[in-house]
Amino acid sequence: MPLFQSFFTLNKNRIMALNAKIPEGPLKDKWQNYLAKTRIVNPANRKKLDVIVVGGGLSGGGAAASLAELGYNVKVFFFQDSARRSHSVAAQGGVNAAKNYKNDGDNVYRMFYDTIKGGDFRSREANVYRMAEVSANLIDHMVAQGVPFGREYGGYLSNRSFGGVLVSRTFYARGQTGQQLLLATYQAMMKQIKVGKLTQYNRHEILDIVIVDGKARGIIARNLDTGEIKRHAAHALVFGTGGFGKIFYLSTLAMNSNGSANWRAHKKGAYFANPSWTQIHPTALPQSGEHQSKLTLMSESLRNDGRIWVPKNKDEKRAPGDIPDEDRDYYLERRYPAFGNLVPRDVASRAAKERMDAGHGVGPLKNAVYLDFKTAIEKLGEDTIKERYGNLFTMYEKITAINAYKEPMKISPAAHFSMGGLWVDYELQTTIPGLFAVGEANFADHGANRLGANSLLQASVDGNFILPNTISNYLADDIRTGPVSTETPEFEEAEKEVKEQVTKLLAIKGTMPVDQIHRRLGKIMFKEVAMSRNEKGMIWAIEEIKKLRKEFWENAAVPGNENGPNSELEKAGRLADYLEIAELMTVDALDRKESCGAHFREDYQTADGEAMRDDENYMYSSAWEWQNEENWKLHKEPLEFTEVTPTVRSYK
Ligand SMILES: Cc1cc2nc3c(=O)[nH]c(=O)nc-3n(C[C@H](O)[C@H](O)[C@H](O)COP(=O)(O)OP(=O)(O)OC[C@H]3O[C@@H](n4cnc5c(N)ncnc54)[C@H](O)[C@@H]3O)c2cc1C
Repeated sequence: MPLFQSFFTLNKNRIMALNAKIPEGPLKDKWQNYLAKTRIVNPANRKKLDVIVVGGGLSGGGAAASLAELGYNVKVFFFQDSARRSHSVAAQGGVNAAKNYKNDGDNVYRMFYDTIKGGDFRSREANVYRMAEVSANLIDHMVAQGVPFGREYGGYLSNRSFGGVLVSRTFYARGQTGQQLLLATYQAMMKQIKVGKLTQYNRHEILDIVIVDGKARGIIARNLDTGEIKRHAAHALVFGTGGFGKIFYLSTLAMNSNGSANWRAHKKGAYFANPSWTQIHPTALPQSGEHQSKLTLMSESLRNDGRIWVPKNKDEKRAPGDIPDEDRDYYLERRYPAFGNLVPRDVASRAAKERMDAGHGVGPLKNAVYLDFKTAIEKLGEDTIKERYGNLFTMYEKITAINAYKEPMKISPAAHFSMGGLWVDYELQTTIPGLFAVGEANFADHGANRLGANSLLQASVDGNFILPNTISNYLADDIRTGPVSTETPEFEEAEKEVKEQVTKLLAIKGTMPVDQIHRRLGKIMFKEVAMSRNEKGMIWAIEEIKKLRKEFWENAAVPGNENGPNSELEKAGRLADYLEIAELMTVDALDRKESCGAHFREDYQTADGEAMRDDENYMYSSAWEWQNEENWKLHKEPLEFTEVTPTVRSYK
């Protein structure tokens, strides 16, 4: 039996579709079939093979440590001073796993189903099933690496619920789950550095990839402290470069998160999949004015015990504590009685927007809704709530000076997570042979909407369990290749292009600060390509993006020089890419004439304001091939559902 299903599939329009290389066999056996038959590299040969990993977060760090442990020679690059500052550190709420510790009916299939449904039937069944299948092992792996997960009094690992599910499968370490997972991953990396299998390059930014004879063979990196631009070669590259939600300027992501590595790879032939699918998280702190450059996330876990409401009266002047129940609209409980406050993020964000647009928003800018713990405190006591979310309440008080044990929090939707990313097949390989993408950088597992706590899971299992097994199938062909040289015309050319781009940015010598242009881009995107979209608005957005891009290249202020630290130069390089990514995101959103998950088209909704999918015409992942900065070719990966029947996603 062949390892993969037939190479090409013909879709409805009889267009040759992308080959996702999904293994043969029933869904539940695919990964085991793959593992049984895939080629592995002899341990003696692994030391002849070099791998470059870009990213020191959970996905990249996990991949780097695992590949080094297997015996490959690994270099890991990241732009922070320490991999411990990769954005995974910010994750608060938890990581999912189908362990059924609560005996509440959880299992691999249920987790798979919840994830497929949560993604509005726009993800690849085989990938999602695999993620659920390996989830239980991840918790054991992380416990073994020392992660102090929250425990019950008796010592068992504790769980809580996240949106979009009816079971408790979220493992957590207070409100610092990402930090604790990242520390464990970092220690695994340090062990490999100590034994000499892994070399880390901190404060390095990858500005291009190098392709030799059709294969990804290296990168061009800039040392952010010295400005030195250098070539690095390898037999394969792994990108764990994170998400690009910072394109909205105001987002829950770290200031330096960016889409540049993926974008440069895209321009060299890696298809970009579903770029417009961005998750807008419902529980961030509201924007308080024009001075802000970042929004703070309050973990989704708060929706376990917090109740969301707005005043029924638009002109309500009373303090929240003085508004009696009959004057409050618990709109999620009203609209979605089955899931209530635990509906998925896209649904919760849209519902908040609907209430705010209708004039019921709270706070000075009327851009927030209440998240109230009064009922939970009455029922469970303040101590229990403190135990569960203490650090989040402290953080809230530090930022807002409001004690949320006494008064409801004010929350608001904010750009958060990129479901779209580099298109990868089942082996996590992009359309450039030898370039793999893991974690948030790829598009693979979340469809049109990610369920809470599934991202730490995906990043961790991609890096620790999946990639180390699939990359060997590729590297097995390279055992006789010998070291890859950087002294080739391809490296020469890529380095030249990178240097020219740096020179071009510094030559603009304009007057408009890069941050200001970025803020303007964010406003366009949040207005027209975020929680709800319509054709007219998006056509306007494309024109505005083009104008802004022109203005950037004519008038951006990029001071200083290239010979040392220059944060404005870094920002300018990233914004130049964002100004192109933004256009593709809008093109993608315009192309998809249906509503699904986070992609809500006002022109495709039901009478009661719910998303209207079009399975007949849009049951595919879009994978865009770069032609030039204003043109892309659309490839389609048809989505076939053998185990589940796509239904109208209802949380009522
Ligand atoms: C505030 C917040 C809270 C969250 N909470 C949760 C949660 O509770 N549960 C959950 O499941 N998910 C959560 N998420 C999502 C989750 O944290 C991320 O999706 C996940 O950690 C991404 O991991 P990653 O390894 O893919 O990328 P990151 O951790 O973002 O790492 C990216 C790495 O790539 C490097 N890099 C990027 N570009 C370049 C370049 N050009 N050159 C060199 N290096 C580069 C960076 O230096 C970094 O090391 C949260 C996200 C946010 C923003």
